[in-house]
Amino acid sequence: MHMRSPDASSTASPTELQTAGESVSFNFKNTYARLPENFYSRVNPTPVAAPRLVKLNVELARSLALDPEELASPRGVEILAGNRVAEGSEPLALAYAGHQFGHFVPQLGDGRANLLGEVLGANAVRYDIQLKGSGPTRFSRRGDGRAALGPVLREYIVSEAMAALGVPTTRALAAVTTGERVFRETALPGAVLTRVAASHLRVGTFQYFAAQSDTEATRKLADFAIARHYPEIAQTQRPYKTFLGEVIARHAELVAQWMLLGFIHGVMNTDNTSISGETLDYGPCAFMEAYDPDKVFSSIDLQGRYAYGNQPHAAHWNLIRLAESLLPLFVQEEGNEESALASANEALATFGPRFETARRAGFRRKLGLMVDQDGDDALIEDLLGRMATNGADFTLTFRRLCDAAIAPEGDIGVRALFADPGSYDLWAAGWRRRLDQEFTSRQDRAATMRTANPLFIPRNHLVEAALDAAMGREDFKLFEELLDVVSRPYEDRPHLERYTTPAAPEQSVRQTFCGT
Ligand code: AMP
Ligand code: MG
Repeated sequence: MHMRSPDASSTASPTELQTAGESVSFNFKNTYARLPENFYSRVNPTPVAAPRLVKLNVELARSLALDPEELASPRGVEILAGNRVAEGSEPLALAYAGHQFGHFVPQLGDGRANLLGEVLGANAVRYDIQLKGSGPTRFSRRGDGRAALGPVLREYIVSEAMAALGVPTTRALAAVTTGERVFRETALPGAVLTRVAASHLRVGTFQYFAAQSDTEATRKLADFAIARHYPEIAQTQRPYKTFLGEVIARHAELVAQWMLLGFIHGVMNTDNTSISGETLDYGPCAFMEAYDPDKVFSSIDLQGRYAYGNQPHAAHWNLIRLAESLLPLFVQEEGNEESALASANEALATFGPRFETARRAGFRRKLGLMVDQDGDDALIEDLLGRMATNGADFTLTFRRLCDAAIAPEGDIGVRALFADPGSYDLWAAGWRRRLDQEFTSRQDRAATMRTANPLFIPRNHLVEAALDAAMGREDFKLFEELLDVVSRPYEDRPHLERYTTPAAPEQSVRQTFCGT
């Protein structure tokens, strides 16, 4: 056995851990548990055979006023595995519905998760602490309520990478192995992820009550969501319309960020669409390497519904489902159905422009264009078109453009990514002419570009290698290293080249799996 103790540098030594903390203090609030009984099912996590902490997010713990030493203590690990209910916790499985690949399922719910409670972050935001993979609930349908170690570590790495990249996302606080097997196609080591989210409210949570025509519950849920995520709008004239508009705005910005990083969520069902505007439920997600707007990784996304280039459309579709669910509240707010519909449509119409503005601004930053000029859009689209035709690596192209922005000598690196380097040269000539009209110094421009163009993303083959080592040999070294690398995505760091290069053909990951 070769499991690392959690970040030994910043937690207690093993001997201290044995004796540390008779209690683990979360200071949980349970505001969701105060909502009516039909919002959830009260259920404790199901204990596991042999809990073992494989990773603790020390920094995140501290930012939530949680004591990493307490969490890493035997008692803390029991809590993180679901073997013990923490003081003040009222574990719940949340009820929700959802459209899965366009098909409505009136009841999904937390089939393998327990909300333990809510804690207050140092930023005064309230966060859910949730165990994922913690045993069956009333919502498990035919599932076992469990998670395999691979998908748990994948969510850990990718969600932490997204956070470091500056994308709103749920976070990973801890990963624990269970000492039990879960049975998928084969027997796999089981694990529990402790997830942190601004909330676990989803579009599907609203659909759950709307589908039952339970307008009072929909209102209670909306009021809860507003108080939690959008408190400033509670006193406005039409809070529900404003609420819809705010969720739409956050998702337009969120999906624009995904697009700017080459991130493909993979399963943008309405039950995976968060009301807080965070990236939620990392399943078959992946960062693409060669730029391809039609790129799909998920093995179950046969129609390409959630392909890279369809993500804005999919998000808008999901937000229409939210608007439909809120419609009865609009009718009450507006007095009649016609103006309610008009309000919903007005809010929904803001998605496209908001997304386009964010995407455009993002690509301009990525190309070092600070001054806004006619023709910039064409320059951006021209580059993307050439990248697609030439199979250029998305991340590296933009990162190496930071060097090319200083001097034409930097072109060598970018050219090497294009099947036909001449295609890049043609574009670069126009880009240089355009950069001549900028006012900042070349060095400043490159430095700014480096804050928009990461060097390190969790490349699929590296993620797979880390997961394979962890699952096959209980060796967490690659996982730890990759996590460290992607936690500082914008920094040049020596000796890490192998993390920057795209997969060789034989390493290339073509498909990802939901892992449920
Ligand atoms: P996901 O694909 O993880 O977003 O999950 C979709 C739905 O299936 C949610 O209601 C989950 O709670 C449920 N689910 C996924 N995996 C399991 C499992 N192993 N056991 C029980 N329910 C599950
Ligand atoms: Mg889900």
